[in-house]
Amino acid sequence: MIANRGEIALRVLRACRELGIRTVAVHSTADRDLKHVRLADESVCIGPPDAAQSYLNIPAVLSAAEVTDAVAIHPGYGFLSENADFAERVEQSGFVFIGPSPDTIRLMGDKISAIDAMRRAGVPCVPGSEGPLDEDPDANARLARDIGYPVIIKAAAGGGGRGMRVVNSEAALANAVLMTRAEAMAAFGDGTVYLEKYLDNPRHIEIQVLADTHGNAVHLGERDCSMQRRHQKVIEEAPAPGITDRMRKRLGARCATACKAIDYRGVGTFEFLYQDGDFYFIEMNTRLQVEHPVTEFVTGTDLVKTQILIAAGERLPFKQSDITLSGHAIECRINAEDPVTFTPNPGKISLFHAPGGPGIRLDSHLYTGYTVPPNYDSLIAKLIAFGDTRESAIARMRIALDEIIVEGIRTNVPMHVELLSDSAFIEGGVGISYLERKLAR
Ligand code: ADP
Repeated sequence: MIANRGEIALRVLRACRELGIRTVAVHSTADRDLKHVRLADESVCIGPPDAAQSYLNIPAVLSAAEVTDAVAIHPGYGFLSENADFAERVEQSGFVFIGPSPDTIRLMGDKISAIDAMRRAGVPCVPGSEGPLDEDPDANARLARDIGYPVIIKAAAGGGGRGMRVVNSEAALANAVLMTRAEAMAAFGDGTVYLEKYLDNPRHIEIQVLADTHGNAVHLGERDCSMQRRHQKVIEEAPAPGITDRMRKRLGARCATACKAIDYRGVGTFEFLYQDGDFYFIEMNTRLQVEHPVTEFVTGTDLVKTQILIAAGERLPFKQSDITLSGHAIECRINAEDPVTFTPNPGKISLFHAPGGPGIRLDSHLYTGYTVPPNYDSLIAKLIAFGDTRESAIARMRIALDEIIVEGIRTNVPMHVELLSDSAFIEGGVGISYLERKLAR
């Protein structure tokens, strides 16, 4: 049973079909016409358009699994994918959760316990408080002084780029701690905050891992996701420009070792900030990532199929030494939004034409006549280009962006066209604030 919607639900459905597994699609009343709903063996409506009453409604999702006699539940990304209580109830109800154990999700879902576990496993972290901040402002001031300004105050329960505040001087520290605490309490019901060194303009580099239930764990290299707007990734690529094989092997091996230390199973991603030659762990995502296809291209693996097989108790089909990187892959996230103002632009697709050709993959649920509902994330397609070299991947991406036709709604394709000929992007290795600065100009 696929407890998700849109392109990722279709991606999971395709993996199941390839494995000969029967599928159940669950959907809200706004999503009856989704492509994967039409292709699934069975489908169940689980509620109204509001995600809180459908895709996030745990009893409704579990009932759908019960009435269809589902065996396993794939949560996709977003929605319930990193909800430890959901994973626990899935298991208690006798289904297989396609993901790590509820305990692991919980451990990595709290940023303080995650950082603590990673530090102990030998993964490099950002210098910081190594635990919750004190109630005592003087103790916090001493700590920040030792670390050096600027620092960032972050909510332990934070997510989606919310619950963090940069502090430039001691004068602003005490108040910033109080405000972040209050915001975290209001947004996440947990006022625990911690402190980290604030890095100037780092790059976002993440390591993909895979672990089975037989004690095997491997890494599949890195992705560079530094092209971001409002902490949302816009373009991702693998491998990361300028990262040497030696650096990759070293960091990757530490992540694979950390997986064993926390009894990890399934697919996962260790997110790092990278600055001046050093990597700093910030968080782990205990699920499939939007940008997984770039890794699939350069490693020749199928992460979703492997994820399902691991959940079925199978051993990893490859060892670390079997995994080699070849070529370069880039993904552009295509959103139903105005390319200049970025306001969502849902509506009916009057004409859709998919690009193609060598090295082009399009993960999308779009078709001519489909109506993008206003209720969910604006991601409508992921366009992925692969080539022998980064230059070739960029060239193919440009052609594909030129070929794709989405009429009836506005999309951010024009922004991607511009970014693909941006000189700093072409050179490679921009920092996480590059796109915001460019847009401001
Ligand atoms: P979330 O779970 O909300 O995504 P993260 O901890 O992953 O939070 O941080 C989100 C983003 O905030 C990062 O990708 C980075 O852009 C910025 N950020 C977080 N910590 C730091 C830091 N110590 N220094 C500089 N930027 C940071």
